[in-house]
Amino acid sequence: MNQQALVLIKPDGLKKSLTGNILARLSETKLEIVAAKMVRVTKELAEEHYKHMKDKPFFKELIKYIQGELHDRRKVMAMVYWGKDAIEKVRELAGSTNPEEAESTSIRGSFGRITTSGIYENVLHASTDTEEAEREIKLWFDPDEIIVELYPTKKTIVDKHEKRVWS
Ligand code: GDP
Ligand code: MG
Repeated sequence: MNQQALVLIKPDGLKKSLTGNILARLSETKLEIVAAKMVRVTKELAEEHYKHMKDKPFFKELIKYIQGELHDRRKVMAMVYWGKDAIEKVRELAGSTNPEEAESTSIRGSFGRITTSGIYENVLHASTDTEEAEREIKLWFDPDEIIVELYPTKKTIVDKHEKRVWS
């Protein structure tokens, strides 16, 4: 089944110059990149993205982490991977959330770490299921930034211009 997954190269991944490595690893999946951009992550976007983690003791640090405040890199690279079993394939290559427990050959196992202050620096984000992927892709991308039709859209008028938005 064709699926789509949001992938974010997190600020630690960018700081460690891992973009090329990560893209090369993900290209093994033969999935297609159907959207890509650099994003300066606002607090609002960060908190919306991680809203399911709101009650965790590390939530505040997590928001700072994804905003790049811990790595002096205030950006992430956001992409949508698309193709057969995209979610499972990307998650498999990414490895477990805890980078010290992740398979050593996975991306997180190869490049991630837990800092002495307890932050999971795990290099990338990848959607875990189709509902999460839909929520995340609609949060990070406008319809016109994606080169395939993934979800229904509608037309609306913004500042006298017609714009396509998620319906
Ligand atoms: P993911 O889907 O594998 O990214 O994991 P989750 O959705 O469970 O968590 C989102 C992010 O929160 C992870 O990628 C980590 O950056 C962070 N995180 C999750 N669990 C922990 C934890 O136990 N401690 C810390 N410090 N960070 C965590
Ligand atoms: Mg998750």
